[in-house]
Amino acid sequence: MPLVIVGHVDHGKSTILGRLLADSGALPAGKLEAVRNYCSRNSKPFEYAFLLDALKEEQSQGITIDAARCFFKTIKRPYIVLDAPGHVEFIRNMVTGASHADGALIVIGAKEGVQENTKRHGYFLSLLGVKQVAVLVNKMDQVGYEEEAFEKVKRDYTHFLREVGIAPREVIPVSGFYGANIAQRSSEMGWYKGPTLLEAIDLFEGAQCSTAAPFRFPVQGVYKFTEKEDERRILAGRIETGVVRVGERVTFSPSGQTSIVCSIEGKGEAGYSTGITLEDPLYITRGEIASKQSIPRVAEKLLVRLFWLDKETVREGNHYLFKLGTQKVECTVSEIRKVFDSVTLEEKDKRFVERHEVGEVVLDLGEKIACDLSNEVVETSRFVLVHQYRQSGGGVVEKVLSKYEKEEISTITMGMREKRQGHRGKIFFLYGDDQKKLVGWAQKIEKALFRRGVLVYTSLFEPDAKKAYFMAERVGVVLLLVGDRVGMELAPSCCISFTEAEDTENSADTILDLLNE
Ligand code: GDP
Repeated sequence: MPLVIVGHVDHGKSTILGRLLADSGALPAGKLEAVRNYCSRNSKPFEYAFLLDALKEEQSQGITIDAARCFFKTIKRPYIVLDAPGHVEFIRNMVTGASHADGALIVIGAKEGVQENTKRHGYFLSLLGVKQVAVLVNKMDQVGYEEEAFEKVKRDYTHFLREVGIAPREVIPVSGFYGANIAQRSSEMGWYKGPTLLEAIDLFEGAQCSTAAPFRFPVQGVYKFTEKEDERRILAGRIETGVVRVGERVTFSPSGQTSIVCSIEGKGEAGYSTGITLEDPLYITRGEIASKQSIPRVAEKLLVRLFWLDKETVREGNHYLFKLGTQKVECTVSEIRKVFDSVTLEEKDKRFVERHEVGEVVLDLGEKIACDLSNEVVETSRFVLVHQYRQSGGGVVEKVLSKYEKEEISTITMGMREKRQGHRGKIFFLYGDDQKKLVGWAQKIEKALFRRGVLVYTSLFEPDAKKAYFMAERVGVVLLLVGDRVGMELAPSCCISFTEAEDTENSADTILDLLNE
């Protein structure tokens, strides 16, 4: 399981990592003694961080091992810890997909307390969708192992994390230097009843969480069989989330083509690079995202949370290259709605985003792309903006905006309408092969909603009427559209399958809940 360790400089990241390696038995035999001997020969106090340096030096001489990765194992599973040298590199690696972390360890010195970078890191982790976090309040020996000192840091930091939407799994008082609560329970901190660091990470959810997510397979390349007359093609790429099996129907977005999986070359699970072949000879190109029942959004206009890394400021009207998964399109910054300080999280009164700031920004894309929202499938919501061949910023997609949004000239806002009607407008799609049955159920759901005072209308889906549907939604109408498959970009919660639709009372309840959310 890949983890990332972050923290303000000198709060003890390397020491904790060194300890983790030593105490989990990951070190080569004699390594610890060799470094201890070296220190005493040179009359230096021993540091666990030296151990790490010594290992990195060795590793970096090998060609294949990245110097910033450490490996260790518990009985439960193996771990890789990415030691993020600086937050900029960390963010860059995370958004470009060069690094991936299922969980994070945030180190805070007990005496030093929460610092700027501690906050920044927490914010970035939340921005990038790393929600499994263990906070390590380190150097507890320096505060006499006192509960009070620990509680203060814990209070300060969990309060901050809550603001950015992270509830830490554990906050653990540790001493990296003395090995307290790393692998062994500390005898000095009997007041602490929670898990040690090793126990805490074993409680993290592993890859199951990405295999349980909806299937997402961004196509990297399409290869033809070389045999004559063989019309089949292999679609190659890396499965970002979910699983796929032979015989399942897959949809490609944004083109909307569908087919059945004929073969899988390799493993059909999240995290694996694989190739799939289809029953039908579809024309699929690099960049499309394959999915199953719950399909990604197709969008030309996005509201994104952007973290900016470049010296050149982002202004409205600027053009960049937008990269998400294997898709690449031109984009224009059409609106800068909000700008935040990445440390204080305070909103700034300005309409441009400078280096190390976070912006809530609207991007107009040159072409349709497929993507997900960060609160649904974060892996396929991450994007990078490229400016003059530099990866200048990155972030996550928060919302898909209607292309027609800018044509809004009505002076009565959606909020005003909602207040009068008691609910907002929303489009729901009932989809399935048996249209006759589906229409019958849609009518029942419509009646149930109407009886409960909802302004509702049912219609057979007509691709050319999308604009009208969006407009009805803005007026506050609840639309029930019936079709053989979901024909427009809607949230998965608004797509009601054939089997769900049959339970009409329950569907009506679900719809009501979504309207009141
Ligand atoms: P990093 O910059 O976050 O990687 O911090 P280091 O691991 O290099 O630690 C910075 C300094 O803090 C070093 O001198 C460590 O020996 C010291 N240190 C780290 N953990 C502890 C601890 O638990 N107790 C004490 N007393 N010192 C520590």
